[in-house]
Amino acid sequence: MLTSYSHSSLDTFRICPRKFRYAYIDKVPVVRVVTADTYLGTAVHRVLKNLYTLGADGVLLAQDEAMSAYRAEWDKLDTRQVSVTSDYYTVDDYIRIGEEILGRHYERYQPFNQGTLLGAELYLDFVLPNTPFRFRSYIDRLWKRDDDTVEICDYKTGQALMTADDPRFLAQMGLYQLAVQAKYPGLDDIELAQYLLRKDMVIRRRLRPDELDELAESLRQAVVNTIEAARLGDFPAQEGTHCVYCNYQDRCPAKVHRRLLEEEESEEDRDLAPEEARELADRFLAKLIQSRRVGAELDSLKEQLVQLAKRCDVSRFDGDTGKVTVSIRKKEKFVTKSEDARAFAELTALCRRMRLDEYFTLDGRGLMSNVYTKKSLPPEQLEELGKFVSEAEQIRVVGKPEQDTEEERDED
Ligand code: SF4
Repeated sequence: MLTSYSHSSLDTFRICPRKFRYAYIDKVPVVRVVTADTYLGTAVHRVLKNLYTLGADGVLLAQDEAMSAYRAEWDKLDTRQVSVTSDYYTVDDYIRIGEEILGRHYERYQPFNQGTLLGAELYLDFVLPNTPFRFRSYIDRLWKRDDDTVEICDYKTGQALMTADDPRFLAQMGLYQLAVQAKYPGLDDIELAQYLLRKDMVIRRRLRPDELDELAESLRQAVVNTIEAARLGDFPAQEGTHCVYCNYQDRCPAKVHRRLLEEEESEEDRDLAPEEARELADRFLAKLIQSRRVGAELDSLKEQLVQLAKRCDVSRFDGDTGKVTVSIRKKEKFVTKSEDARAFAELTALCRRMRLDEYFTLDGRGLMSNVYTKKSLPPEQLEELGKFVSEAEQIRVVGKPEQDTEEERDED
């Protein structure tokens, strides 16, 4: 278990568990690659912090001074060493984009004192209620507007367009609200505001108490997932566009073969012959294509048999070369996270209140077989649990060729 968690660490685990392991568990020292888009964010954040901190004291930094401060941030770097992740942009483009962002924001919000500043780049940590898990967060700006609303502000300098219903917005901004409420219980009229600086937009949202409860539960579950992964040593590498920002590519198991192929020579300390591995991969892929074709045909035939079995109330079909049995049964099941994340969070909270944690599994089977079907609880508790139960079909199609081979396929 880490000493504390953040939106960023849990997001890293969600995006790539292997990167999480390198960064937060192994703490692998890295030479950090500075990318132009992330540094653009750093430089803009620093200038905005300065503008609002001075503005709170009635001091307005002139626009050209703010721009000079921004350029001074870039001057701290040797821009030739800055990596650019897009083929179409140069470092100068990113510098210019930052200037445009700041210029627009300056025009719109100067003299930066439309509210009472409660903190800029504010560090907060807190323990998630009813858990031992500590969280930390940095809030870009916390301030009280003239209408007495407390606004938790976050600046985004990327291109992504977000909505206030986006789970990523809720995960990040909701965590900030939990942190603010834990530290300052007196601040209760809170609005979350994300400033999409590149789009010149602000998205806002107020969270209901039940949404905050749901978020707290998902944070608890996310931490438990990291602990479970550490217990099993299970940190798979999940590749994606995010890899370009990863500082651990040289040790990542998903990247090593490609690197060896490109280097055209094997590393002394690795028992990996790149060409042999490539050939093995190609043979596997050829068979995979074949088996997918066969699998699709099998699925189609199975579906036809199931429809026929339902329509004609027949459970066994005899062919010249063997028999196929089709079993269709009804079973009760608890809602799963992939079906309805909100109902699933309510179910987990209910199980905790009923002290049924030991029976709780992600697919709900433990709860169903050990508790619900045995009716081992008072009727009112069974009724509460029953709200999360639905009926599902369990279908099995089993083929038995007359030859001494057996083919069996199941489907739930
Ligand atoms: S390179 Fe990609 S897959 Fe490998 S650890 Fe980094 S983010 Fe994960």
